[in-house]
Amino acid sequence: MKPSTKTRAPEALGQLVGQPVGAVDTPALVIDLDAMQRNLVRMAEFARKHHVRWRPHAKTHKSASLARRQVHAGAAGVCVQKTAEAEALAAGGVTDIYISNEVIAPHKLARVAALAHELAAEGGQLALAVDSPEGVARLAQAMNDARHRHGKPAVIDVFVEIDVGQGRCGVPPGEPAVRLVHDVRKHPALRFAGLQAYHGLAQHLRSPEERRAAVARVVEQVQLTRTLIERQGVAVELVTGAGTGSMVCEAASGVFGELQAGSFLFMDADYARNERDPAQPNFEQALFVKTQVISVQPWHAVCDAGHKSHAIDSGLPRVHGIAGLEYCNGGDEHGILRATGAAKLPLLGDALWLVPGHCDPTVNLHDYMIGVAGGLQAGSVERIVRVDARGAAT
Ligand code: PLP
Ligand code: MN
Repeated sequence: MKPSTKTRAPEALGQLVGQPVGAVDTPALVIDLDAMQRNLVRMAEFARKHHVRWRPHAKTHKSASLARRQVHAGAAGVCVQKTAEAEALAAGGVTDIYISNEVIAPHKLARVAALAHELAAEGGQLALAVDSPEGVARLAQAMNDARHRHGKPAVIDVFVEIDVGQGRCGVPPGEPAVRLVHDVRKHPALRFAGLQAYHGLAQHLRSPEERRAAVARVVEQVQLTRTLIERQGVAVELVTGAGTGSMVCEAASGVFGELQAGSFLFMDADYARNERDPAQPNFEQALFVKTQVISVQPWHAVCDAGHKSHAIDSGLPRVHGIAGLEYCNGGDEHGILRATGAAKLPLLGDALWLVPGHCDPTVNLHDYMIGVAGGLQAGSVERIVRVDARGAAT
């Protein structure tokens, strides 16, 4: 026997382009490109109407081609969470990137500074969040070191992150933020670009009223901090934050200038559990795991997609389009399907479409996404989307 080769090599995937959806092997992560495009257009329209910029979070798709598509649709650039994500997207031609997170290790900051210089040389821009004087000093040092290597000086945009209720990164709102702004402004290679104020927990509060109340408290804290900074004669050019769940609130606040929502592009079963705010664009499910029924027993069926195909941190997937067919935990490689009410079990060999519980970590389980146009039933494969920053965790 010949030594085994990777069965899903990129060439094999490339041959899928132009073929009907039925040719997509399972399990596979599939993008409904038409639905995704509608989500993009709705986001662009929403941002235009509310006079805010949008800088979608690329942690959702980790793909340079999708990031470029977002910028083409009007996004100001993209956010990422990791240095390695920024590097992967920059290598794929994305030039305006905000690492909306803290970076502390000097060797990583050296990469941040190198990337800031590379992007600046191409007319692009890199930005980073900070929440400590030590982080600011280390970033300034790294930028200084990089300047000697790159010759031409570059400036990195720096957002001071305030903790507006998530209890994660960020200095407390008010005076601690003012002090950090002063630290940033001491360094010529650092430009104070504004405030980062993201409240992740607010995204998944189920009712619009709860989300509105949570973001009202966010806005108060941002306003207080901004006023204190501006009293020192320093302009706060931009307040950036918001995710898919709460973005209508930040957009209406008059305080946020930029929305970082990421999941809106694909959506997921967890976001589908949110009660929609009437002001929220009607984002559609655009990301699916295609799976096949591999066993049918008297009281259940089994499909070939388990936790290695989709993330389960926000709950198990839903079966798309079949009411009463429930996906239950079958382990790493299997899903157990049970029929409730009038629903029937699927047949052996049937293809099913799963809506993942949480889109971002699901994407990170796959090397490629299969882009389908013309619908999941009758459509065909239009292109293969590489998850360029898959596993880019540093
Ligand atoms: N901004 C930051 C800092 C985040 O951590 C996230 C997601 O966790 C987002 C924006 C985007 O949120 P979502 O994908 O829920 O729209
Ligand atoms: Mn998420």
